[in-house]
Amino acid sequence: MNTQNNIVHASGDQIRNLRELDHDPYHSHKKLEEPAGCPQCNAVYHQGRWQWIDTPSKAHQALCPACQRIKDQCPAGFLKISGDFLSHHADEISQLIHHTEDREKREHALKRIMDIHEETDGSLNITFTDPHLARNVGEALHSAYQGDLDYHYQKGEYFLRVRWCR
Ligand SMILES: [Zn+2]
Repeated sequence: MNTQNNIVHASGDQIRNLRELDHDPYHSHKKLEEPAGCPQCNAVYHQGRWQWIDTPSKAHQALCPACQRIKDQCPAGFLKISGDFLSHHADEISQLIHHTEDREKREHALKRIMDIHEETDGSLNITFTDPHLARNVGEALHSAYQGDLDYHYQKGEYFLRVRWCR
């Protein structure tokens, strides 16, 4: 890892073992009584985690951490996609991004894309409610199309910045 101004450049394996990314500050277990249902997305907090199950009739109402992040516009992951390859394969890339999100979100209710924004130079900036989803989408692009993939994070922060370029 190269450290410069606390921004750390890391490889995929290092990111996978990063303790900073274990504990989402938005996901505090302390005050939440089970079961709780999110009025925004209908995820249910049950047995210590948010999941896609039917909302129990006695559920408390609580905004889930993913909806809270969307409301606060406070992403936990960021992916920038750039390069000529993107302009010629925009549809395939978009499908791969959404397919990866769907697959991850099914198992992990808090892993979601917040926003996809196209810059004037054609590159895509994608924000996520979860840093691991940013990594997973980056890895999916890299394993499908090769190119350059890299990760940056700020020490002590639950936030991952990913770049993929081809
Ligand atoms: Zn929610």
